[in-house]
Amino acid sequence: MKITKKSIAIIGSGLVGSLLAIYLKQYGHKITVFDRRPDIRNINFSGRSINLAMSNRGWKALREVGIEDEIRKIGIPLDKRAMHVVGKEEYFQKYGKEGEAIWSISRGVLNKRMIDLAEQAGVDFRFNEKVWDVNLPEAKIYTGESEKSEWKAYDHDLIFGCDGAFSRVRHKMQRRSRFDYSQDFIDVGYKELSIPPNEDGSHKLDKNSFHIWPRGRFMLIAMPNLDGSFTCTLFMPFEGEISFESIKTKKEALSFFKEHFPNVRKDIENLTEDFFKNPTSAMVTMKCYPWTYWDKVALVGDSAHAVVPFYGQGMNAGFEDIYVLNSMINKYGNDWESIFQEYQKERKPNADAIAELSYRNFMEMSSKTANPEFLLQKKIEKRFASKYPDKWIPVYSRVTFSERPYAEALAVGDKQEKIMQEVMQLENIDKEWDSKEVEEKILSLL
Ligand SMILES: Cc1cc2nc3c(=O)[nH]c(=O)nc-3n(C[C@H](O)[C@H](O)[C@H](O)COP(=O)(O)OP(=O)(O)OC[C@H]3O[C@@H](n4cnc5c(N)ncnc54)[C@H](O)[C@@H]3O)c2cc1C
Repeated sequence: MKITKKSIAIIGSGLVGSLLAIYLKQYGHKITVFDRRPDIRNINFSGRSINLAMSNRGWKALREVGIEDEIRKIGIPLDKRAMHVVGKEEYFQKYGKEGEAIWSISRGVLNKRMIDLAEQAGVDFRFNEKVWDVNLPEAKIYTGESEKSEWKAYDHDLIFGCDGAFSRVRHKMQRRSRFDYSQDFIDVGYKELSIPPNEDGSHKLDKNSFHIWPRGRFMLIAMPNLDGSFTCTLFMPFEGEISFESIKTKKEALSFFKEHFPNVRKDIENLTEDFFKNPTSAMVTMKCYPWTYWDKVALVGDSAHAVVPFYGQGMNAGFEDIYVLNSMINKYGNDWESIFQEYQKERKPNADAIAELSYRNFMEMSSKTANPEFLLQKKIEKRFASKYPDKWIPVYSRVTFSERPYAEALAVGDKQEKIMQEVMQLENIDKEWDSKEVEEKILSLL
């Protein structure tokens, strides 16, 4: 089918906007990406590197446009969790089957690389141009210095809002009748900290692990960077007994790290310095619908669905949006109304599912990891899954290492949970958790 060339504006040059630009450019459209930020390729990140985990869905979307190998070069595979539990030696939990891994990638390096690749493909970028308003039916955008300054108007055939969780494009769609919208902040915030490399440039902790220090209501995680450092994220309540609010002085921060994270003692000076230097940020789940307006405007990525980061899936889900959108383009050609309708219909239940799974993971990490019954249940599930890998694929693997819909992972997870609730009612389950009877009970319920 002959594709009619369009003039397309993408608002946002983040991870999703830049990948979408690469996808759409393949069809020969004229693509302009607007971002309110300066070009991140010219900014010195002053050594701070924030990273994220890429898993199967993300890789699949990159593979489709031939840039997977290029991006693998800037990532580090993590095939296991390294658990740092109080009173125990560090121990490791394999993520999945042999060869399955999530990849730690610096967000900044990834974003710069994708902007480079989009530019090489012929995409135009306009940095330092903040979009203030959108005329939805006419696909017109207005940019300018400030809300009150004079605005520049740009006409396009189509607009994609890839402008993140607090999207301006969505904001405009929100004012329409029958637009559903919800936003829920959790009472836990996060702060990025770092562990520098050894003097010889090597990593201070195992480099191929996702490090976790679970502490009930708070938790520290660390992912490696190529330069030998680790980016750590401290998740902790904003207020309360142990909270960001309760740590006010350097002395308090020092004793907090010493008490709760003794095996990073050598890096405490650094962690403490970062603690006061770096901002404390909030986390939000945002849902909305519809995601599209006629055949003119569509939301993609965080602007359509922001999730809390406890499954490491936000970017992966955004990349999967693009993959699905592209499959609709292949199916419907120039019929943008059908492309948009089918795209949002297919993605919305899956975005809701990953939002729910991410929120549950947060609840699980923050309130259940100290519960002995919960831990016993997980032990039984793990034993059963390793004995019957075809009958019991854990939800984590379904989300992270599979490309089946998130909604399916959620539904199967609910079914597994129901089975486990029955199993946990068995008499003497705490003593006979590894017995043949328990195994047979699960098999009979499956
Ligand atoms: C702590 C944390 C850890 C995470 N870890 C992971 C992980 O391990 N794996 C994973 O898959 N996901 C993770 N995520 C989620 C991931 O970061 C997001 O899903 C992803 O960055 C969304 O990309 P985006 O391009 O949609 O939006 P953004 O990255 O927010 O980009 C939006 C872009 O739009 C621009 N913009 C905004 N408003 C305007 C405007 N009015 N005009 C012009 N430009 C504008 C911004 O400057 C920005 O460049 C994590 C998130 C957090 C907070």
